[in-house]
Amino acid sequence: MKLWRKFLDFMNMTPREGAELKDLAVFIRFLSVSCLFYFILTSVALFAATYYVFAIVEFLCAGLFLVVFIYTYRGKTNFAMDFFGSVIVAVPTVLALTTGWKTNFQWCLLVEILVLYFSLEINMEIKVKLFWVISLDFILIAFFTHVFPNSLDFPRGWAIYFHIFSAVFYAGVFHIIAFFYSNKFNAAEQNLRDVNNKLRQMASTDTLTSLPNRRTMNEHLTMLAYNYERSNQPFVIAIADIDLFKKINDTYGHDAGDYILQSVSAIFRDTMEGNGMVARWGGEEFLFAFENASGNQAKNVLEGMRNQIEKTNFQYKDEVIRVTITLGIEDYSVVSGVEATISKADSKLYRGKSEGRNRVVY
Ligand code: GH3
Ligand code: MG
Ligand code: MG
Repeated sequence: MKLWRKFLDFMNMTPREGAELKDLAVFIRFLSVSCLFYFILTSVALFAATYYVFAIVEFLCAGLFLVVFIYTYRGKTNFAMDFFGSVIVAVPTVLALTTGWKTNFQWCLLVEILVLYFSLEINMEIKVKLFWVISLDFILIAFFTHVFPNSLDFPRGWAIYFHIFSAVFYAGVFHIIAFFYSNKFNAAEQNLRDVNNKLRQMASTDTLTSLPNRRTMNEHLTMLAYNYERSNQPFVIAIADIDLFKKINDTYGHDAGDYILQSVSAIFRDTMEGNGMVARWGGEEFLFAFENASGNQAKNVLEGMRNQIEKTNFQYKDEVIRVTITLGIEDYSVVSGVEATISKADSKLYRGKSEGRNRVVY
């Protein structure tokens, strides 16, 4: 088990060129190791069947896959890919033409067709051209091995071993290719999903306060209005505005102002948990949507929150900053619609401002 881990770690080593080529390097390594073993085993089988010359030729061919394997660790991954492609087409072509169709070497050409498409470096036109070359080669092998048959005649027992090696090898190699393709697609899809989620999150959230932004709140209100019409679920809209916020900016600086916006937003968010949604509506204005609540219930909650903010010492660097907020509340009514309900809440807010600020008007 430990040895297997070590083997996998070795196979998964990042190539010298960097992480972008890792997929390709690991892919070529697994394929070249598989080919290396397959060619060595078939070479042994040919040797045992007394085809000494073929056995030696094949053993040397196995060495070419070892060279491919080594190149993936030498910072020459793209070269290794091209070299692998040449070897896995040229060697089986020669072997198939000299040993016959039954030895199954010709199927290696199909392996190369799949391998070709794995690399992002080779452009599509070249891939298609190479596909035609390989296909033609494959058809010619089929033609020549049947018109000029020179199949090796294995002793009965050895033919079984030989064919089992082939079966295991081709199943294994196709599995490796399918595995790498599926990983590559899944990774690309996951990446796309992550980026999409991030974009959606960015588009719906205010960056300074992390509260939902105006757009998100508008969508939410549309949904609440729809639910109201469909199933009479009441909701309440409130608007809050920080009192004399310009003075905070002027006295303590814009960064302190930002800090206050973040701090009161955190209080707003906590207050609305389980009650509904709060969004940053504009500069230092916030919109609250209470779900399944009456205006009086909302007023109680917001009165408590206003009180909490009034009493809080907001510590920014060496300064202690005190702030108050004024709020206007309005029940949603179908007759008015969302926009007019917001306007009414806004009017109440301004009434609160003119009556001396730091209050909730319902
Ligand atoms: P009032 O009690 O009447 O609301 O007084 P106010 O000073 O809050 O009045 P006003 O709405 O005119 O001022 C809001 C200020 O909020 C003006 C603007 O510079 C500031 N502001 C808006 N957005 C931001 C922000 O993101 N960060 C900071 N630091 N200030 C902001
Ligand atoms: Mg203000
Ligand atoms: Mg304002």
